[in-house]
Amino acid sequence: TGTPLLVVDDIEVVYQQAILALRGLSLSVDAGQAVTLLGANGAGKSTALKAVSNLLRAERGRVTRGRVLFEGQDIGRLDTADLVEAGVIQVLEGRHCFPQLTVEENLISGAVSRRLRGRALRAALDRVYDLFPRLVPKRGINAGYTSGGEQQMLAIGRALMARPRLIALDEPSMGLAPLVVEEIFDILHRLRDEEGISLLIAEQNAAVALRHADHAYIVENGRAVVDGPAADIAARPDVRDLYFGLS
Ligand code: ATP
Repeated sequence: TGTPLLVVDDIEVVYQQAILALRGLSLSVDAGQAVTLLGANGAGKSTALKAVSNLLRAERGRVTRGRVLFEGQDIGRLDTADLVEAGVIQVLEGRHCFPQLTVEENLISGAVSRRLRGRALRAALDRVYDLFPRLVPKRGINAGYTSGGEQQMLAIGRALMARPRLIALDEPSMGLAPLVVEEIFDILHRLRDEEGISLLIAEQNAAVALRHADHAYIVENGRAVVDGPAADIAARPDVRDLYFGLS
């Protein structure tokens, strides 16, 4: 319906030493849609997410062509604070919680940009605990002492505290047991269904990602070479051969 929420239009990304990581990648995410980016190691999935959330500079990468539009507005030059304000937030690969802060303090840190206090802050925390009941008994424990799955939940919960419209997730399944991966994808599903939050998920675990996404792009060599409804992509014999053996 209408214009997509996020449009990545023909972007090229170059890292230092002239490494061409994206060579004209285009994709779009509609409001309330879960879109997954699949592809081998080094295909450019992480780079695509970093281009969306303007995180390339820290890695000495830059967009040398193309645009990133959010609700039709060019967001390519917004800093992280302005992106969060606009409703775009990324959950980084490796999760990046503050290990010395408690689980609840980590969650509260996610709400800083929204200046939530008192009842509004409590309500936002309660919503995260409702989605991630496993975090409830851990709320007073340092995040560094929680499991990998709990840290991934915490990273998503912290992103939620900023009330995003779109969450970009880099490899949410990485290093986690299959049951925990299912749990996390089920919750991502609920975020889409119950809150209308749009998702852009880079995943090497194609089987899981395709089961939970609406639309999928296959990234090869810095370009989206195939895309379609997730169910159609999952049924393609070439995709099955290429990616399902690996996951
Ligand atoms: P992975 O699953 O391993 O993260 P990916 O599909 O996300 O793979 P990218 O990490 O986006 O792929 O990498 C795309 C290309 O850019 C690769 O050739 C990679 O080596 C290169 N690259 C990524 N980060 C940098 C960097 N900071 N400096 C130089 N080259 C980089």
